[in-house]
Amino acid sequence: MDIAIKDGKIVEKVDEKKAEVVDASGMIVMPGGVDIHCHIAGAEVNSGRLLRPEDHVKDVEVKTALTRSGVGYSIPSTFTTGYRYSRMGYTTVMNPSMPPLEARHTHEELDDTPMVDKATYPLLGDWWFVLEHLRDGLIEECAAHVAWMMTATKGYAIKIVNPGGLESWGFGRNVKSLDDHVPYFNITPREILRGLCKVNKLLNLPHTIHVHTNNLGKPGNYITALETMKCVEDLADGNRPVIHITHCQFCAFKGSDWQTMSSGAEEIAKYVNHHNHVTLDMGQVIFTDTTTMTADGPFQYGLYTLTGNKWVNHDVETETTSGIVPFRYKRKSAVHATQWSIGLELALLIKDPWKIYMTTDHPNGGPFTAYPNIIAWLMSRVARKKTLSKISKRARRKSLLPSIDRELSFYELAIVTRAGQAKALSLTQKGHLGVGADADVAVYNVNPEQVDPSKKYKTVRRAFKRAAYTIKGGEIVAKDGQIVRPIFGKTFWVDVKTSLPTEVNDDLKRKFREYWTVEYENYSIPDRFLHVPAPIPVKAEV
Ligand SMILES: [Zn+2]
Repeated sequence: MDIAIKDGKIVEKVDEKKAEVVDASGMIVMPGGVDIHCHIAGAEVNSGRLLRPEDHVKDVEVKTALTRSGVGYSIPSTFTTGYRYSRMGYTTVMNPSMPPLEARHTHEELDDTPMVDKATYPLLGDWWFVLEHLRDGLIEECAAHVAWMMTATKGYAIKIVNPGGLESWGFGRNVKSLDDHVPYFNITPREILRGLCKVNKLLNLPHTIHVHTNNLGKPGNYITALETMKCVEDLADGNRPVIHITHCQFCAFKGSDWQTMSSGAEEIAKYVNHHNHVTLDMGQVIFTDTTTMTADGPFQYGLYTLTGNKWVNHDVETETTSGIVPFRYKRKSAVHATQWSIGLELALLIKDPWKIYMTTDHPNGGPFTAYPNIIAWLMSRVARKKTLSKISKRARRKSLLPSIDRELSFYELAIVTRAGQAKALSLTQKGHLGVGADADVAVYNVNPEQVDPSKKYKTVRRAFKRAAYTIKGGEIVAKDGQIVRPIFGKTFWVDVKTSLPTEVNDDLKRKFREYWTVEYENYSIPDRFLHVPAPIPVKAEV
């Protein structure tokens, strides 16, 4: 069918005599790609760049008449990040981990990331005032505080990382279960998760709570992942999800140590197939050299002791922690190869593609530029078999992949790479090509009716690496993998309308003076600070 575009939107029809025609016959047309979780901007990413000079040497983005130069393989510079997403047909990306105190830096870098619309999630799971409010059972006060926080940091969703564990890390400790107590605050991960889930509902935020579970990256942690999903089961609203478990591969490990580590994907898939209150993204591992970075400070310390590699550890005042460690995933490592298998198992065993989305947790599982490889694995048994034949024997023996015949169709692929992600984010103008949608379109040079099944993986890998056309807001911005028109994307943030008192009181101002290095007056980011601010008005329940 014809798709008509006018003034940046998909419309019913246009004047055909005057319109510019893009002939996409024999190709696949999809909405622009949407990435729900990729670390592309902010203090953490930038520290990663400083830590990895070797990452810059091996991958250089050459300047053209239209585009800027850049460097970086696993942590590309901002402009390079925008160009590379655009070349693959992506038009919207979400930066998932922003310490509120670092919001200014994060938005500066997001503004410097061209070609895509974007948003970012403030880390609130270990924020002192959230912990205090939830400990005291003050859900509405906490909601008012979070509403203020979203506006102050220009945030989009509530991010929770290792709830309670990050504050415990300030005391040199961690939490091991959902019912462990956080030192001083006397609150448990379960109470944080449930409290913020309630706050999220009260404020009617467009996305659910976005959760990196406790015990991430440890053998046996699939139990924690299941308990995390279960702990908000009773807060479900009919079929509307109330929790997103991010990079689920990293919390789907069975076993009691690294020797016995195996896949817990079957158990997680079984649960998700029977429940509608949860969505997930994969956190797929790629066999390559990359840089891990997360707010989960204690996890990164563990990774540092495991690898002996370079390490950055950071305590962000009253707010959160973070850590960075370079990492190489090896085919011949039983653990790494099992991780590779788990990501794909989750995506293939969870029946409904609207529940699990494609990510690498860039750059944690590998750089986002590897998406075409993941697409090949998801769509082709042959591609999986080929990689399986090269991995560690022990991992191959344990892998569930040989028993899985499923190959995603192009429709399912469109769901796991854009439609599902847009829906989970309530970005109602993204992820589809209906009238009224943003004219963000990706055209891939592959004809589904003529794909040779034995060569399918090669065909799709090539097609999704370089979109034939990427159209952003109605403009052709990339063609055959070349940037032809550099543009600036918007930054979405939620502007919560609530009857709760969100003006900051003297008590908080006093705390700013006592606890932070930044004064309250310098903390909030004004709208005008953003290049193209796109506030999304949200009406709270209270
Ligand atoms: Zn992440």
